[in-house]
Amino acid sequence: MSKGKINVSADNIFPIIKKFLYSDHEIFLRELISNAVDATQKLKTLSNLGEIKGELGDLTIQVIVDKKKKQLRVIDNGIGMTSDDVKKYINDLAFSGATEFVKKYEDSVDASTLIGNFGLGFYSSFMVSDTVEIKTRSWQAEEKDGAHWTCDGSPNYELKKTTIKARGTEVILNIDEDSKEFLEDYRIKELLKKYARFMSIPIQCGERDEQVNEAKEGEDAKYQTVKVPDIINENEPAWTKSPSELSDEEYKVFYKALYPHSFEEPLFHIHLNVDYPFDLTGILFFPKIKPNMDMQKSKIQLFQSQVFVTDNVEGIVPEFLTMLHGVIDSKDIPLNVSRSYLQADSSVKKIGGHITKKVADKLASMLKNDREDFEEKFKDISLIIDYGMVTDEKFFEKARKFTLVQSAVDSKSFTMDEYLEKIATLQTDKDGNKVILYASDAKAQHSYIKQAEKQGYDVITLDSPISGHWIQKIEQVEEKLKFARIDSDMLDKLIPKDGETTSKLSDKESESLKGMIESSVDDKSYTIRIEALDSDDAPIMVTMPEFMRRMKEMSASGGGGFMAMGDMPDAYDVVVNGNHPLAAKIIKAKDADRGALIGQAMDLALLQQGLLTGEKLTAFINKQVSGLV
Ligand code: ADP
Repeated sequence: MSKGKINVSADNIFPIIKKFLYSDHEIFLRELISNAVDATQKLKTLSNLGEIKGELGDLTIQVIVDKKKKQLRVIDNGIGMTSDDVKKYINDLAFSGATEFVKKYEDSVDASTLIGNFGLGFYSSFMVSDTVEIKTRSWQAEEKDGAHWTCDGSPNYELKKTTIKARGTEVILNIDEDSKEFLEDYRIKELLKKYARFMSIPIQCGERDEQVNEAKEGEDAKYQTVKVPDIINENEPAWTKSPSELSDEEYKVFYKALYPHSFEEPLFHIHLNVDYPFDLTGILFFPKIKPNMDMQKSKIQLFQSQVFVTDNVEGIVPEFLTMLHGVIDSKDIPLNVSRSYLQADSSVKKIGGHITKKVADKLASMLKNDREDFEEKFKDISLIIDYGMVTDEKFFEKARKFTLVQSAVDSKSFTMDEYLEKIATLQTDKDGNKVILYASDAKAQHSYIKQAEKQGYDVITLDSPISGHWIQKIEQVEEKLKFARIDSDMLDKLIPKDGETTSKLSDKESESLKGMIESSVDDKSYTIRIEALDSDDAPIMVTMPEFMRRMKEMSASGGGGFMAMGDMPDAYDVVVNGNHPLAAKIIKAKDADRGALIGQAMDLALLQQGLLTGEKLTAFINKQVSGLV
């Protein structure tokens, strides 16, 4: 037997670590399981190389909750360690990490920032234990030649020879008073499910001790060992396989395993499989986006070599893709780091960019390979695409080619290029701008759409909550392209053409018409305009100018810089088509009838815009009803 002092500079590093890593105590189990998996993988590799002859036997890792002894034991059949290995890897390596931590802690004002980029590995088991023991026998050791190491987290350790029947390592945690939760079978299972669900070696939460009596005062509790041989993990999860090995059904089964509480099936998936310039595998699922979906809550799970790291991928996956579901696994993701450190990591940044590219490529190929199917799915993912186009420059460039717009007239879908070609002849204004007419609510704006259709124009539907931002972005990038909401002005004003429409009214008539309308309309906030427009255009329209409305919309959906706009009162224009037969009728009307005529026309214009509400609506309905009888 040998006793020794681990070579560390600070005398009692343990309390410091314990204190500062308090909230993350549970990660000790992830660390121990990762070590056990590593040791087993190494053994498999040696066997594959022919260094180890013969059968390896059962390699299942056992986690044993022994309430009676207040122990948690993690047992593997991996390569094991010789006494020298223990000295080298545990005493020196594992502890040097911890010492480094304390040194930095002593120099640092803000300990919390440094904990982040720091891996404690094996040492983290002291966060929950009074003493930790390792019983291990190396694959190279002589028959039954094992080592038994004991340490209480202080630099003092004890290492003795012992006989151990089988190759491998058993780590025994003597759980401390404050950490009793880790002697609960359900808690350990929960943690194993969280961190080890997809680890590559089978793990069994194999055996536990359950209390079988009600312990009375002065009486010892009785325990019985219960064997629970269920394997808690799935060691070849779908993403580690090649896409050609998996059927659509198997992807769905995997999705269900990841999200057992989800009722919906995913729309489609993207299997990531990259080994250069960095390692990245994973499967991303596109869910159906529902209006009430919690967009902020990311669903993607991040793994490192099948070890769960986090389900908060904010800052790792581009923001617009956090609506996706699925898993990402990369060997290049550091395990023991804080979120802020993770986000700043250069390989993590590259991963984000790469995922964006993969997603864009997949969508482009879907459009190319099965247009009909893509059009169908697009409806459910358009919000993600819009969001990506608005927030991610690289994605915008690619998505510009596959994003679809849908006509509100005949429901046909077009790519941007197809659409611009479609409208080129009729919807180019006198300055050479192509004008895309859009409806934000095809039902409410039905009459405007019909009016446009009558004049040979097309209208698309843009009804996502971020359409305003999307339009702004496209107009910024594309030259000579404008968007105009179908109810924002008379069509001749939205797409002004060469050659002024001659006015049927003289200037004097126009002036007096304006006066007549001003005096009949109660709401003095309206700005009244008389315009000489196509006689087929609407007679009278209540509109909010496009610019004003957009600013308001964008401030409502959180656009920077427009914050104050939301508070401004709504201001409407009343546009009167001087060339419409109604204009002439109003001018010619007897004084007694004129007010009613203007009132009726205004009511209809307001009704069309959804602005006829409250008392005005009641009065309108009463008038109509009395007209019926
Ligand atoms: P890391 O795993 O990051 O190297 P650890 O502190 O967790 O750091 O472990 C230190 C070293 O101890 C490991 O690299 C490994 O060589 C050895 N080790 C730990 N656990 C085991 C085990 N279960 N079987 C064999 N070797 C182990």
